[in-house]
Amino acid sequence: MSEEKKIAIIGGGYTGLTIAYRLSKKGYAVTIYEKEKSVGGLAVDFELDSLQLEKIWHFLYMTDSDALSLSEELGIRDKLVFHDSSVSTYYGGKLYSFMSPLDLLRFSPLSIIDRIRTGFVGLYLQHIKNWKPLTEITAYEWMQKYAGEKATKIIWEPLLKGKFGKYYDKVIMSWLWGRIKVRVDSKEKAGERLGYFNGGFGVLTDRLIDEIKKNGGKIITNISVDKIIENEDSSSSVKLEDGSYVKFDRIVATVPTHVFAKLIEGNTKVTSKEIQVLNSINYVGALVMVFTSEQKISRYYWHNVNDPDIPFLVLLSNTVLAGEETYGGKNVYYIGYYAEHDHHYFSDDDNKIMNEWEDGLKVMFPDFDKNKIREKKLFKFKNAQHIVDIGFEEKIPSYKSSLNNVYLANFSQIYPDDRGLNYAIQEGDKIAKMIGDSFDNKKK
Ligand SMILES: Cc1cc2nc3c(=O)[nH]c(=O)nc-3n(C[C@H](O)[C@H](O)[C@H](O)COP(=O)(O)OP(=O)(O)OC[C@H]3O[C@@H](n4cnc5c(N)ncnc54)[C@H](O)[C@@H]3O)c2cc1C
Repeated sequence: MSEEKKIAIIGGGYTGLTIAYRLSKKGYAVTIYEKEKSVGGLAVDFELDSLQLEKIWHFLYMTDSDALSLSEELGIRDKLVFHDSSVSTYYGGKLYSFMSPLDLLRFSPLSIIDRIRTGFVGLYLQHIKNWKPLTEITAYEWMQKYAGEKATKIIWEPLLKGKFGKYYDKVIMSWLWGRIKVRVDSKEKAGERLGYFNGGFGVLTDRLIDEIKKNGGKIITNISVDKIIENEDSSSSVKLEDGSYVKFDRIVATVPTHVFAKLIEGNTKVTSKEIQVLNSINYVGALVMVFTSEQKISRYYWHNVNDPDIPFLVLLSNTVLAGEETYGGKNVYYIGYYAEHDHHYFSDDDNKIMNEWEDGLKVMFPDFDKNKIREKKLFKFKNAQHIVDIGFEEKIPSYKSSLNNVYLANFSQIYPDDRGLNYAIQEGDKIAKMIGDSFDNKKK
């Protein structure tokens, strides 16, 4: 057993929750510090129109094996249901189905030659095994070279700009390849199926909370950790925003990399070079509007918005994915947009942004009636996606920091794959094992 070794986990997203669950199960005394009101991180849920919904849309792929086995282990696998997905692209004032090779052949904004070329490029990407050369070229450049000028302008550039803003021409091709591959690998012959919990991802979050508490773990919310300080013995302390210090045997931060830099800066062991490297990983934020409506405005789950006249990147209908019965007949929608940290959306009034987006919806769907909206809410997340640029591999921070017994685990370490709940769980398992082993090795 663990001789009451104390472990602090900074951040209660899925990485932090998994670490806390695994280590508390082994008998360690874990404490999660979460700065927000509730744990769940980017997948946190909330109540809207008497429904438990995620602040940001979430689903699982059939290939998300770590998330699937965790659900099994926690006895909630039966609540995770896979539904048929449906994808469309809005361009030039029209909505196009975008699910099959036939749909691509019907995508009239591109010439027939460009459609065929795009199809071959997609096929070629699916069969690439050695992704290393793709780390040396940006996705934008690669697409221009292989898919051509027109297809890049109409299909890829809007997606890259929508997701990465000013970094759109910096992201490397291996990132885009990984995104395409994960979707293709998880597809069944009949098409794409996506997993969603009956009752939302809060079902999984709540089970993790229950288990951590049952194992004696503490979850402290609404408090930010301001500093990590290495002590003279092998312990370290967290300095909380109220000015108090708490000593631990191990500390794991699951915060974004540049936030971690701030936490450890000032310790004598931490060099300015280390801080500089940690700060060189850039992040963009995300803004998400969630609303319920009396209206069913589209038959698709997912709408990629490639049209520059519409002020957002994606529109999703969770009701189309999960079925009307899941939401008692209400139509649940998400509108999403990624934004750089200095984007005016981060200081704009929520209602101003939502009004602008509702006007965009009216352009896409002339029958859309904003008066039919029942309830709505906008959320802003500052660190939603990191930028995987040329040379990124050298910047990836290690799990063990330069401070004694202080660890970092976040999605910027997932490579060449991209962030996702499955990887948060996988990484959480890995770090928990690393910490458990570090105690076991000391005993030997
Ligand atoms: C728009 C969008 C859509 C997504 N869709 C999907 C999807 O469909 N499927 C999927 O699998 N994944 C999806 N993801 C990715 C998924 O949400 C993340 O991979 C996952 O939630 C990351 O978990 P994490 O614990 O590593 O980080 P986070 O969830 O970011 O958790 C970190 C936590 O640390 C806390 N924190 C930060 N600083 C401090 C501090 N100083 N003190 C205390 N606490 C602190 C934060 O409040 C946060 O709760 C999506 C992400 C986004 C942005």
